[in-house]
Amino acid sequence: MKRGFVVKQGKVYLLLLLVLLSIQVALAADEREIENPLKDGAIKKRIALTFDDGPNREATPRILATLEKHQVKATFFIVGWRVYSFKDQILQIARDGHDIGNHSYDHPYLNKLKREEIEEQLNNTNLAVKKVTGMDIKIYRPPYASYDERVLSIGNDLNMQLILWTINPEDWRSPGAEKIIKRIVGNAQDGSIVLLHDKKQTADALPKLILSLKEKGFEFVTISELLRI
Ligand SMILES: [Zn+2]
Repeated sequence: MKRGFVVKQGKVYLLLLLVLLSIQVALAADEREIENPLKDGAIKKRIALTFDDGPNREATPRILATLEKHQVKATFFIVGWRVYSFKDQILQIARDGHDIGNHSYDHPYLNKLKREEIEEQLNNTNLAVKKVTGMDIKIYRPPYASYDERVLSIGNDLNMQLILWTINPEDWRSPGAEKIIKRIVGNAQDGSIVLLHDKKQTADALPKLILSLKEKGFEFVTISELLRI
């Protein structure tokens, strides 16, 4: 009986030891999980700058030069026909490691088109980018945010994800570089997607905008990085 009790007690201790060990292992794993994000900078707030309607020969090269200078990656929602007319610019966007999104072939209201026409708008733009840069497009932004069930279902069929925005500084109205910066910095949050355009005032605003956001602790990511797609 006594011997049996000792054995039983031994088993209980062993069990207890195993439980303690597994708690320690779990704690260690937890610590690692907490540690790693700190190391790779994930505590920083993330923001995605997106540029619509390009590329063009005026603003796009200036925007690209600023992004390069400040080591910032962004996303360009390009208009399909422009890929052939501004090959140098689209090639530089690709070479610099920015994301490319589909902004239709010639900027219509997609929701006012027939199904085949919507498919053409998206397919022809994807094809143009593939031909010139070799890149596959995974994201699209309908001009004027003009989408409905049909647009969404065609996007799904093409394995593309619809991307809108969370901050719209209305830079396309050319309100002045300072206003563009203020509207963005004042509203920026972790995960913000900023709607911008390949336009002069946007290019003017960009250096100060980047510095202001960096000062506030933001890091710049592409849409693919932000949404992990
Ligand atoms: Zn547009």
